[in-house]
Amino acid sequence: MRSASAALLVVAALVVVPVWGCGPGRGVGRRRGPRKLTPLVFKQHVPNVPENTLTASGLTEGRIGRNDSRFKDLVPNYNQDIVFKDEEGTGADRLMTQRCKEKLNTLAISVMNQWPGVRLLVTEGWDEEGYHTPESLHYEGRAVDITTSDRDRSKYGMLARLAVEAGFDWVYYESRAHIHCSVKSESSQAAKYGGCFSGETTVLTSTGLRRNLSDLRIGEKIQAFDPATKQLVFSEILVFLDFDPSQKREFLSITLSSGRTLTVTPSHLLLLDDRTVKYAEKLQIGDFLLVSDPKDGLSREEIVQVRGVWRTGVFAPLTSVGTLVVNDVVASCYASVDSQWVAHWAFLPVRWVAGFWGNSGLRKPEMGVFWYAKMLYVMADFILPSHLHE
Ligand SMILES: [Zn+2]
Repeated sequence: MRSASAALLVVAALVVVPVWGCGPGRGVGRRRGPRKLTPLVFKQHVPNVPENTLTASGLTEGRIGRNDSRFKDLVPNYNQDIVFKDEEGTGADRLMTQRCKEKLNTLAISVMNQWPGVRLLVTEGWDEEGYHTPESLHYEGRAVDITTSDRDRSKYGMLARLAVEAGFDWVYYESRAHIHCSVKSESSQAAKYGGCFSGETTVLTSTGLRRNLSDLRIGEKIQAFDPATKQLVFSEILVFLDFDPSQKREFLSITLSSGRTLTVTPSHLLLLDDRTVKYAEKLQIGDFLLVSDPKDGLSREEIVQVRGVWRTGVFAPLTSVGTLVVNDVVASCYASVDSQWVAHWAFLPVRWVAGFWGNSGLRKPEMGVFWYAKMLYVMADFILPSHLHE
């Protein structure tokens, strides 16, 4: 039975689809088909939110100096297709995070394609000398200032657009003399597989007790919303897609009009009503979420505040109905794909196999990301239809 189950899992993943655990937005950097590229105008930034917003490059994590433990996270970029100005003569401009390096290398190719004979020029990279504003991402190797090697300013608007297309998380036509580009932190990237809820989040169990997510066991029944019957039910926890009490991550804290607060990772799906889901990061003040009222059952409640916060501990239980009620708010067990149905379908083999394990009693969750979720996440990069993103 074991090997048959394993084979089924693999086949299902190949045929069925895609999915993932949790984390900051997927779909960022993914493009739909060819389209005309519009240059950015002076002082424009993309996306149109402040740089430190979670949907852009995210919060600053503090300066990195040469003696910091985080200094080892910076990698040198020796790409021959990029010119590094290296004004300081220290090689600091070549140092950047892995994500920044990847985006920059992609951009270098677009620049050569766009303007044959011209190369990408980096005028500023990691800053160890304090030339930027206090919150600058240059201090963390997460930002670069760029121009073209011919210093033709008429190209900079288009250069900025190419940087957006290359996948930088925030691009700013900052001055007439350069474009500023930045990326999310590596730790927020590490979060992309899982970690939907923070540990202090509570759920109602079938015994009538309210418990923290961090204390739950596989096999326990917790309150959930059954999309098939549109009723509140108690649904069994099949597995934890992610379980890590010590991991620190960026979350969105969403406050509702009654004062209820929910802390989730940005690409987690929440229910607006009994059939509509939306990524947490796309929610706005004034949107309504489906909640479970102890007196009235299901109702909808308005969002009054959304803000980014740091929390330690990430927990992502998967129930057999694919949803759960956390802090009285109805949430999907899934993230990163904009369809509750597709997500639930992709996890069918897990639900199926869990059915065979049956009543093996309550089990302690294993640490880390559930391998099936991780695999689906990787697969999704290759086969997920683009209309399901964003
Ligand atoms: Zn800059």
